[in-house]
Amino acid sequence: MSSIKNNKLQLVLMWVLLTSVLLGIFTLLPVSDKVDTSTVIKAATKAVIKAAPIVVTNESQVNTVSLPAEQSLGQTSTRSLETSSEPSSGLAAERSSVSAVSTDSVIPATTAMVTESVVASIAAELAKSYPKTINYVIQKGDTLGAIFEQLDLSQKSLYQILEVDLNVLALDSIKPGQMLIFTEFEGELTRLELQISLAHQVIYKRQGDSGFEFEQVNIDGEWREHSYIGKVEYSFSGSAKKAGLSLFEAQFIASLLKDKINFSRDFRIGDTFKVLVSRQYIGDQLTGENRIDAVSINNRSRNISAYLYEGAYYDEAGLSIERAFVRRPVSSKYRISSSFNPKRLHPVTGLLRPHNGTDFATPIGTPIFATGDGVVSRVLNHKYAGLYIEISNGQTYRTRFLHLSKALVRKGQRVKRGQKIALSGNSGRITGPHLHYELHMRGRAVNAMTADIPIASAIDKRQQAAFKLALNNYHAAWEQVKS
Ligand SMILES: [Zn+2]
Repeated sequence: MSSIKNNKLQLVLMWVLLTSVLLGIFTLLPVSDKVDTSTVIKAATKAVIKAAPIVVTNESQVNTVSLPAEQSLGQTSTRSLETSSEPSSGLAAERSSVSAVSTDSVIPATTAMVTESVVASIAAELAKSYPKTINYVIQKGDTLGAIFEQLDLSQKSLYQILEVDLNVLALDSIKPGQMLIFTEFEGELTRLELQISLAHQVIYKRQGDSGFEFEQVNIDGEWREHSYIGKVEYSFSGSAKKAGLSLFEAQFIASLLKDKINFSRDFRIGDTFKVLVSRQYIGDQLTGENRIDAVSINNRSRNISAYLYEGAYYDEAGLSIERAFVRRPVSSKYRISSSFNPKRLHPVTGLLRPHNGTDFATPIGTPIFATGDGVVSRVLNHKYAGLYIEISNGQTYRTRFLHLSKALVRKGQRVKRGQKIALSGNSGRITGPHLHYELHMRGRAVNAMTADIPIASAIDKRQQAAFKLALNNYHAAWEQVKS
């Protein structure tokens, strides 16, 4: 008996429970209905879109850049989106993807239990499973800090990148039109690529929690020689431009031969000139990197010429045209406290931190001298490098002076070898005052104390035959154009 009674009671209880559950659902349903389905889809697609590579640019162009990061990760998620006018971009992207998701594969819209937050969390989980890549074309007035902020990237990763960039100082001279490719994984910046030109990239890669390491990519491409022949009409630069040379190249020639001919006074109408320029190509595209190989000017009855041989210019007889470099930017009484070392590791993190220069133990205020003739290309302040100067010494060489207390030159100024350019200091993040001096040869840091730099004043006897051969090749290149 009692068992039957119990069964009845159980049935009643179950019925009550079921009714209340159904009632609950009925009262809940209108609420669920109020969730605008378009909002749900938007939320989902926003998250999905976040996970896909986004091309960010202010210009109306579509970037089709191959992404080595994705290739190396085995991802094939490159999706070229139409760009919109706003970097934070959305409408065009959002719209295009709404149509993409309406094919039901992402959201099974079958149950009323699907809420915005559920969809968002599913999408966020999906987003984590592959890296997000952002291509950012640098605009006029952009700073690295502002770009990081705009893309919602952490200050911590910005400082970690700046810390490793101390060894290249590439991010200090970003220019409009260059591209930054950011790769994020699970909300963290894992890779940054700066595309300086088609031939030159710097890649910063995360190595665990402690920071980034960098890699410089220099593609040699193909150097094709172009010949320019002209007659002097009004000025040399005007005539050179007419013959097809750039203003920069005309100025370079004038500065190279300034000790041999006065470019504003000595030319006569009817004087002729021949120039060979090598221009770098990758495929059929010019990279913007050029090199003047040979110049020959017939001025009245005399010939003035310059030929590039092993990184330096010589005249027809093999005598050096440029003034040579000196090894040291400071007096010989200051000892070297740390030598050039491309394989140096950070003592704490163990990350590769090449020492791309030579340190001199100089007290604050020590005079620093230019090691070669050139033009000041940078006077900047860097969080880690401190106040520093960069001098462009012709086409092949570049010198840098870090941790200064005072700069005595300004950007664009022409300097002579031996000219006092700065006072040493302890600016930037360093343990004690010193001068860090760098020499770069064709974009690569070399040991300034041992590098094979032009210090000789003439071609050595053993090299005469090779030099003659190089001269004959230059002359032959001009002859070919004439015929
Ligand atoms: Zn140093």
